[in-house]
Amino acid sequence: MSSPFANNSILEIIKRYRTIWSLYHLSALAQWDMNTYMPEDGINARSEALGKVAVLSQKLFLDNDFVSLIQKAEKEKLNDYEKALIRLLKRDLRHYQKLPPEFIEEFTKVTNEAHMAWKNAKEKNKFSLFEPDLEKIVELSRKKAEYLGYEKHPYDALLDEYEEGLTTEDVQKYFDSIKKPIISLLKYIKNSPKYKNRHPLENEKYETLKMEQLNKKFLELVHNNSNNLRMDVAPHPFSTSLGIGDARITTRYEGKNFKQSYSSTIHEFGHALYDLQCGKELAYTPIGTGTSLVIQESQSRLWENMIGKSREFIRMFYSDITKLNANIKKYSIDDIYEYMNSVKPSPIRTGADEITYHLHVLIRFEIEKGLIEGKISVKDLPKIWAEKYESYLGIKPKTDTEGVLQDIHWSQGNIGYFPTYSMGTSLSVIWKNEMEKDIGKISGILTSKEGIKKIEEWLRTNIHQYGSTYTFKEIVKRVTGKEFSPQPLLDYLKEKYKGIY
Ligand code: MG
Repeated sequence: MSSPFANNSILEIIKRYRTIWSLYHLSALAQWDMNTYMPEDGINARSEALGKVAVLSQKLFLDNDFVSLIQKAEKEKLNDYEKALIRLLKRDLRHYQKLPPEFIEEFTKVTNEAHMAWKNAKEKNKFSLFEPDLEKIVELSRKKAEYLGYEKHPYDALLDEYEEGLTTEDVQKYFDSIKKPIISLLKYIKNSPKYKNRHPLENEKYETLKMEQLNKKFLELVHNNSNNLRMDVAPHPFSTSLGIGDARITTRYEGKNFKQSYSSTIHEFGHALYDLQCGKELAYTPIGTGTSLVIQESQSRLWENMIGKSREFIRMFYSDITKLNANIKKYSIDDIYEYMNSVKPSPIRTGADEITYHLHVLIRFEIEKGLIEGKISVKDLPKIWAEKYESYLGIKPKTDTEGVLQDIHWSQGNIGYFPTYSMGTSLSVIWKNEMEKDIGKISGILTSKEGIKKIEEWLRTNIHQYGSTYTFKEIVKRVTGKEFSPQPLLDYLKEKYKGIY
């Protein structure tokens, strides 16, 4: 496609935006480094630099000439791409106009320091070491909601930061419709004679080097281009896209329970592919990457759950999996399939199965809402966490580390982020159904490189190429002709897991 931008004001905006983009690019690189290779003591200098760069971006954004250009362009006749570009710039503009620079600087500094406090607290298994930082973050988040403004609920303002237009009411309605069916499916599974408290493969050990080889083999099969994608190690895997030709994923190696490392790698690859397949003609503009977190997560979860954990995919990697450890040879493809898809309430969200995952997210949503409403205090979090886990999942975390300290998000000031995980997972099922109408059953084509290319091409033409041109609700409507609904998720889970259990 040639450049979709033709309007003169838009072209001028894009030219000026490149400097702001450059600051974002370098901040993302500094953050990637902070979470992978930076020596721990570098944190203060890095926080200082990131805080100052954030203020500089705000200043450039609020420059009078730039703002008038946006206001001028808005009134002109624009195509879909140009309209989206203005929509996103106005969204950032509102954010910057409403948040005072001192606030942005303080928020950036507090969260960067809190991140280190959280790491330390998690290592020492002591919530009290993170508590004062989290107090500050909650207080700043409530302040942020007031600055940003909202119609009905202060949490709306925070949700909107991560998913454009998402409200507390949307999320509440969503969880209200999945909560009961998921709890009852879990009950069914736990009563099945096939239910295991622990799958023996969870204890099988592996050497990091061998696992790394398996992960690399996966990347070769699905992508085969190390010139635009690299993989590193991070305790809390994430992915980041720095622009054209530079996507980065991370994974982790715990030395046992290989499905964790395998799933992380496939999950983060799903994110990276979205960014790598965005239309190149949109690069350096506000719509040049995926910004909707629900769409982002729909991509990673599609790869992780529907592709990575399928029987066909496991069959393809079977001989590599058995190389991890001589003991693993005694397990069949079916055994590994059952292990990959075994359901069991466990304290950790990131390792959770497809059923209980949504309850982990629901708990975080309820807690965040309570914190922002002031109905829950930070100091009571370990207790409230344990109560909710007991009530929804029937288990209690043994330590703070496997309880309230497990997630990185709050330490980074990301309150309002979690609901996109569950909603994105729901959306991944919608994509699977829609894709299968066009290219046939995923299970049928997964066995060859050409089949995988077909899946990637479907994702590119229907979703990726547009970058952030459409909101998640819009793109669902465009591709499926229907509104977003959690029903396909519930149908999928029921069919898959009644087959296994
Ligand atoms: Mg993700």
